[in-house]
Amino acid sequence: MHEMSVALSVVDQVEQAARPQGVHGVRRVAVEIGELAGVVPDALAFCFELACAGTRLEGAELVTRSVPGRAHCAPCGRGWDTGMPPDMICAVCRAGATELLAGRELRITEVHWSAAPTAPGPAPVPQSEES
Ligand SMILES: [Zn+2]
Repeated sequence: MHEMSVALSVVDQVEQAARPQGVHGVRRVAVEIGELAGVVPDALAFCFELACAGTRLEGAELVTRSVPGRAHCAPCGRGWDTGMPPDMICAVCRAGATELLAGRELRITEVHWSAAPTAPGPAPVPQSEES
């Protein structure tokens, strides 16, 4: 399953990331997923939960943000949303020289660390918490 390898890679990257002092876990991880990346957000969230088990990320919430596919035609300069399945042919000049500007993203944009309950030192920087 593609989503499982993506989830494992996200967990791995977060585990390798430099941690601020006084944190013992991860509360939330935000990722951007391009519309054309071939990843189903719900399936990724499910796999992420499995991939987190037994790691520092156990119990972390995955927040996904979808990035629409965006194409650009070099010869005429037209830009358009590709949709899914992607429309990669320029409607104006029918050129095949289409450049994909966005839509293949698969990256971690934010990691919210959770502080240890008894950790000394400065309090973690407050993050916007809406849930
Ligand atoms: Zn064109």
